[in-house]
Parts: sequence; structure tokens; C-alpha cells
Amino acid sequence: MNQPSADARPGHFLRHLIEHDLAAGTYAQRRFAGTPGDAAHQAAGPLDAARIRTRFPPEPNGYLHIGHAKSICLNFGLARDYGGVCHLRFDDTNPEKEEQEYVDAIVDTVRWLGFDWQQNDPAAPGGQRSHLYYASDYFDFMYRAAEALVNAGHAYVDEQTAEQMRAHRGDFQHAGVDSPYRNRTPAENLARLRQMRNGELPDGAAVLRAKIDMASANINLRDPALYRIKRATHHHTGDRWCIYPMYTYAHPIEDALENITHSICTLEFEDQRPFYDWLLDTLCTLGLLAQPRPQQIEFARLNLTYIVTSKRRLRQLVEEGHVNGWDDPRMPTLAGLRRRGYTPESIRLLAERSGVSKAGGWIDYSALDIALRDDLDAKAPRACVVLDPLRLKLTNFAEVLGSNGHREPCHAPVHPGHAERGQREFALTQEVWIEREDFMEAPSKGFFRLSPPRADAATGAPLPGTRARLKYGYVIECTGCEKDAAGHVTAVLATLVPDTKSGTPGADAVKVKGVITWVSVADGIPAEVRLYDRLFTEPQPDAGGREFLSVLNPHSSRSVTAWAEPGLATAQKEEKYQFERHGYFVADRVDHLPTSRLVFNRTTTLRDTWSK
Ligand code: ATP
Ligand code: MG
Repeated sequence: MNQPSADARPGHFLRHLIEHDLAAGTYAQRRFAGTPGDAAHQAAGPLDAARIRTRFPPEPNGYLHIGHAKSICLNFGLARDYGGVCHLRFDDTNPEKEEQEYVDAIVDTVRWLGFDWQQNDPAAPGGQRSHLYYASDYFDFMYRAAEALVNAGHAYVDEQTAEQMRAHRGDFQHAGVDSPYRNRTPAENLARLRQMRNGELPDGAAVLRAKIDMASANINLRDPALYRIKRATHHHTGDRWCIYPMYTYAHPIEDALENITHSICTLEFEDQRPFYDWLLDTLCTLGLLAQPRPQQIEFARLNLTYIVTSKRRLRQLVEEGHVNGWDDPRMPTLAGLRRRGYTPESIRLLAERSGVSKAGGWIDYSALDIALRDDLDAKAPRACVVLDPLRLKLTNFAEVLGSNGHREPCHAPVHPGHAERGQREFALTQEVWIEREDFMEAPSKGFFRLSPPRADAATGAPLPGTRARLKYGYVIECTGCEKDAAGHVTAVLATLVPDTKSGTPGADAVKVKGVITWVSVADGIPAEVRLYDRLFTEPQPDAGGREFLSVLNPHSSRSVTAWAEPGLATAQKEEKYQFERHGYFVADRVDHLPTSRLVFNRTTTLRDTWSK
């Protein structure tokens, strides 16, 4: 994608803040964080004073969705625009829910979106440094920091039950109550913490808590938990640990160890910021980290209508079989959107257009379709496909063109705006497929396609059959239709109007209002076309505590057997097309097999049809 330069883009508060920090040299004095010799210290490398460092920190407990794309585009985009570095960091501190499968899928997806964590670094092997990290690589440091907090009287081991802890935390109206374990000595706490680490206490028997203020107006500062006991095999560290750090403790440390400058997150973390600051400042005072430390900055998350993005709900859709897996083309996961045919460019465009602010809001799903059309209109090759086929017989074909077996060569541009991309070649034959909706026995007002001769409703005078153009072919005149015993139309009959072929001097001699797309019966190839629609019927599926499954759209997926122009036989997986008059389609990346089994997914129609 051709990106405008940083200065040409609309400013937003994050850009202003970064520009201020760069101008003021906020991070110019940055040194290594951590203790020399730490894996963490080795990993991220020193920070160039003139650069920023951001990160995208997914937890590998599910597939990425369109909301994550916003965060990816923002973090990688800012690093790129300001000559900085963006880390891909797996926030893998919760082993029970995390899996290697998710790690792999996330790596794949961030690459697909067009971002890279490899950076030029003359000091690294091959001149490239990979900025992909795992929070679990910092478990040693995190534990060391926990002991340091205990020794300094800033943390204690609490052995209240979970219910007691919850009850003693208080609420907005009531201050919390100190735990009876709160005044243990550092030596007692250290011994107990080591027992926790050594597996001498059962799961859930104790937690390590920060000792801050049980009366704080901010509940996040009422002695938050730092470590819990959990015997769980970790996808990265195996069984080395039976205690795991809490997210709120781990995340600031991860940022600091990686020399992140701007730790950008969504607004729900705003109340956590005082703890983020407390923890890092305390660890700096204790000499485990160095100032200037990273700063947390919040922005409003991306909310798109007609989808859900909570991982719990996405998992429910998959596990209960409401969709066919994480990459079902109706899913708002990036794997699903990719399979549906959305391009990385369109998703980046949406992220850009949705802006960055402190005030949340909803963006209509159609914004994504608009971004897709804006991306593909100039790029996608065109093709003719008949989705709801009805046979059309040209009864004077032999008379005009020599024989019924004749194949009259026709051509159409690969792209109407790019003559240099050449022509598609196909043949007009005696029978062609047209869309069923292009024929009406008793036409309504304003219908300009095919209808047979009939009597005028008012006067009874005979009216001729209508004329329309077979696109890239001839003008035809409808003469009648064939029906089955039940009265259903099985074929349309028409005659070619001689000397009206597109591209010949006679083409303009006969003016018609209707133009019809078609595919030769003899040469067309069958294709399975999956017509997707929105997964939910309501713009905010889980608004007001509604059961989101109750507003699943029962018509979100439909499959038809269509006829495609012969050139589509060689379409490759993931190739995108504009099917003339129908919209944008992609060859399915899973089921489509070039030349043997054509499967296309409808990404979106040419216009927004949902609002009707
Ligand atoms: P979910 O809420 O769907 O379960 P999560 O936020 O718990 O997702 P993480 O893997 O922790 O998932 O998210 C990684 C990053 O993506 C975080 O920094 C988070 O703030 C960001 N993110 C998640 N959803 C959105 C969104 N809708 N808009 C912008 N950023 C988002
Ligand atoms: Mg999260």
C-alpha cells in the first residue's frame, strides 16, 4: 500500500503526544532496562534515542479479530511513521487458555495484514533483528521483581479464601478491609512466596498481593494480586512454573523490559494506569528497572456494528457450531475476513478511517465494505457469472451466424479502466445462461430487460417482445418462453438482431435500455458460489444484555450452483474478482481447486443492499 507520509496524515492525540516526546527527548536518556544477562535484556536491544517503540501484545487464547486489526495497524503504523520499532509480543501468562495453534495463527495474521517485526540492525546476525517476544521469557525477571517487592515491604502473601478477598475488597461506596495477613514481615512473606514457587502449597491456597492501599478510591489499587498458584503446563515454559503472574503485574514489566516507549491500549485499562505507574516506579526505585519508563496511553476501541468481538462469544459461535470454525467467512476474525475476501488493504483502510480518539463509538459495518470496494474497484479483474441461471435459446442463431454449432468470438476488458490488462475472450453460442430476474413475463413499469410479446393492458393492442443487449454480444429480442407442467419458466426464447454486435459499426444503430450478463451454455463452467450475509440481524447483537445468539441471521449463508465464464477455470485460491453487476468475490482459500472445483465466496455486493 502506498502510505502517505506522516506529515500528510490527519493528526490525532497519539501522534501529538509522540511528536512532543520526540521533540522533548523524553526517551533520549533511555538505557537498558533489566539486569545485564537477562534474556529480556538481550532480547529487545538498546533503544535509539530518536525512536519510539510500540507493541502489539495479543494473548494467544483465540484468533485475532477486526478489533485487534485496529490495534495492529495503530501500533505498527505509528512505529513505521516515526522510524521506530513495533514488537509482536505474546502475552502468554495464562497457560490454561493458551495454545501454540493460536500463536501460529496470530503470527500468520499479522504478516498477512502487511506488518513485520523484522528490523534492520547491523549489530544482529544477518543484519536483521526479530522483534517477536514472549512474556513467558520474562518469568524469571518477574519472579525476581516479586521477591524484591516482598523484601521492600511492598508485597505480601495473602491466604484468605477467594470469597474473603472479594468481600474485603469493598466497592465504590465502601473502602476495603485489610487482610489479616497484610502485616506479615518481609521475611515471613519471602519464605511463603518461595513455598508457593516450589509447589509446596496447593492451587489457590495463596496469592501474592501488592501492598498499596485498601482504602484507595481506585479499586485497582486495593492490594491487587500479583501471582497465583496454578499447576498448568505452559505452551512455552512447560512445567517449569506452578505460579503465574497476573496480567496487570506482568504487562507493565513486559513493556519496561522491552524498552517500550508508548504502551497503547484500549480505554478499559484506564483505571489500571495508576497501578501500571506505581509498579514501574517502585521497581525503578528498587533498581530493577530504569527511568524513563514506558507510559500507558488509552484510546477508544473499534466497535463495528453487526458483529461481536469478544473472544468468549466468538469461541461460543465456533464451539456450538453456529459457524464452521474460526475462519468461517461470516466470522469477524481476521482469518474469517480473509477467507471471505477482504483484503489487508481494505482492513488497513478501515483502521485508518476509523481514527483514534478517547471517545468510543460505533462504526457501521458498511464502512468495511466501502473500504473493500475502494481497494478492489481499481484492481479486481472482471468476470461474468450467472448466479441464478435460466436458459436462453437464440432461435435464429443458425440463420444469422451460419449454424447452431457456431461459436461467435466475443471479448470484454479484463478491467474497464486498464486497457493494458488486455481482454477476456469467450464465445456466444446458441444457448446461454442468463439471470432468472432478467426475464419477466408480465413486466412491471421500468423493467427494461426481457419480456415476451403481449397485449397492452389498457388498449389490448399487441406489443412486441422487448429488446436488450447481451453484454459484449448482440442485441436480442424476446419472442416467448417455455414452461414446465407446473407453469414454471424453463427457458426464454429470443432472436438475435443482426449487425448489432458490440464493437462493430452497427452496434449503436439499435438503442436498448437493458443490458444483460450471460454465460455460454456450451462453454460455461459450473461453480459453487457462497452468498454470505451479515451474521446478526441487529447492529449491536449483545446490546442491553440481550442473548446475542437470539439475533443470529438465519440467512447469513446460502450456496448456489452458478455458471461462470470459461476463463475463471484457472482462478487461483484467494484471487479476487468483480463479478459484473453482482459484487466482489474471492476463490475460496480452502475448498477451491483451480480447473477442477470452483468455489467462490461473495465478499460484498457492488452497493450497500442491507439498508433496504
Ligand atoms: P477480547 O476482548 O476480544 O477478548 P482482548 O483485548 O482480551 O480481546 P488481547 O489478545 O489481550 O485480547 O488483545 C490484544 C490487543 O488488542 C490489546 O492491546 C487490546 O487492547 C487490543 N484490542 C482488542 N480489541 C480491540 C478493539 N476492538 N479495538 C482496538 N484494540 C483492541
Ligand atoms: Mg486482553
